[in-house]
Amino acid sequence: MTIPLITTKSEEIFAAAQKIMPGGVNSPVRAFKSVGGQPIVFDRVKGAYAWDVDGNQYIDYVGSWGPAICGHAHPDVINALKAALEKGTSFGAPCVLENILAEMVIDAVPSIEMVRFVNSGTEACLSVLRLMRAFTGRDKLIKFEGCYHGHGDMFLVKAGSGVATLGLPDSPGVPKAVTSTTLTAPYNDLEAVKQLFNENPGEIAGVILEPIVGNAGFIPPDAGFLEGLRVLTRENGALLVFDEVMTGFRIAYGGVQEKFGVTPDLTTLGKIIGGGLPVGAYGGRRDIMSMVAPAGPMYQAGTLSGNPLAMTAGIKTLELLQKPGTYEYLDKITKKLSNGLLQIAKETGHAACSGQISGMFGLFFTEGPVHNYEDAKKSDLAKFSRFHRGMLERGIYLAPSQFEAGFTSLAHTDEDIDKTLAAAREVMSSL
Ligand SMILES: *Cc1c(COP(=O)(O)O)cnc(C)c1O
Repeated sequence: MTIPLITTKSEEIFAAAQKIMPGGVNSPVRAFKSVGGQPIVFDRVKGAYAWDVDGNQYIDYVGSWGPAICGHAHPDVINALKAALEKGTSFGAPCVLENILAEMVIDAVPSIEMVRFVNSGTEACLSVLRLMRAFTGRDKLIKFEGCYHGHGDMFLVKAGSGVATLGLPDSPGVPKAVTSTTLTAPYNDLEAVKQLFNENPGEIAGVILEPIVGNAGFIPPDAGFLEGLRVLTRENGALLVFDEVMTGFRIAYGGVQEKFGVTPDLTTLGKIIGGGLPVGAYGGRRDIMSMVAPAGPMYQAGTLSGNPLAMTAGIKTLELLQKPGTYEYLDKITKKLSNGLLQIAKETGHAACSGQISGMFGLFFTEGPVHNYEDAKKSDLAKFSRFHRGMLERGIYLAPSQFEAGFTSLAHTDEDIDKTLAAAREVMSSL
């Protein structure tokens, strides 16, 4: 990798993009606003790597924000897609591929007895909230500060991800009436949740959370937090919903709920189950899911939902993940990366904390520990920006925000991790 990085074509394309698309992107975090500098325009991706339009190669720790867990453009996925493509891109009618992926999801995820496929994580979360309300006959919802559940109006309260990155307290265009039923608590704070239940007796439909946070940076649940939420929701006749759009099939094949042994009532999925194509899903207890139209009265629909290409990519991706040793391998290389980054930060005199579970990791430039979004916000954002830029110049593509988790894949090798750590040592030595 050349330093300084030559990105002439990226700059030209992004300059043109800014005139025709808001901020030059179709999803805010991609614009590099929080780290400064110009975003890199990708040309192609393969395995653990991405190439930009100027021909620079990067080791990619974003993985399309999670889906690329088998490595980008895995040949099995691509070949299956080519075969599926010949049969058409969308049916708008039942297809057997939906059954196959649904059965795989039901077998894998402890809480899911029935599932509905949609086209994005946002759509899954919007739908699951409607279902929580329909089933309980209650309107209020508890979410946690820094957790992101897509861009639905009622979730844009103390949301993480792009909203955190851009420093928007909220979003204009979201009516107060819509968010008046959204109650928030700090992550890992059971007492705060208990208090909300006490203050709103019989009014709370349920609690939704990222069971491991990825959208405020990587924040795992404290011991007993998920279990405590399970008890509190039961005691109050409310539903517990795990938003596993990011963590599903990443933390373990059956998600955080399998790994931690806490079973929610409902679960949302996305990212990995689409294998790189647009998919989301929500599912859970049969009695609750039976309320969804046309089985029941809660309306939710989608022109392209369950489309054969997305189902095919999802099926192939899950098949690859079922091979023995998958999650052990992800854990091993990611632990090496996370521990290595922390060690280097220590040796080069930077306050930092880092964590990882399976193929998901984070690094905060703060002493830590980070238990919630307030803790995460103590990070040195200017230092993170310089770190991000330095890594980019050395061919390491990290999420362009302190408030995003990183992802490894089955295609990342020991050698890739070594290269990444060598780059980190150079950059941290000069921060
Ligand atoms: C990415 C994400 C979403 C939103 O999914 P989209 O497909 O981007 O709409 C929702 N919840 C969580 C936890 C996510 O990580």
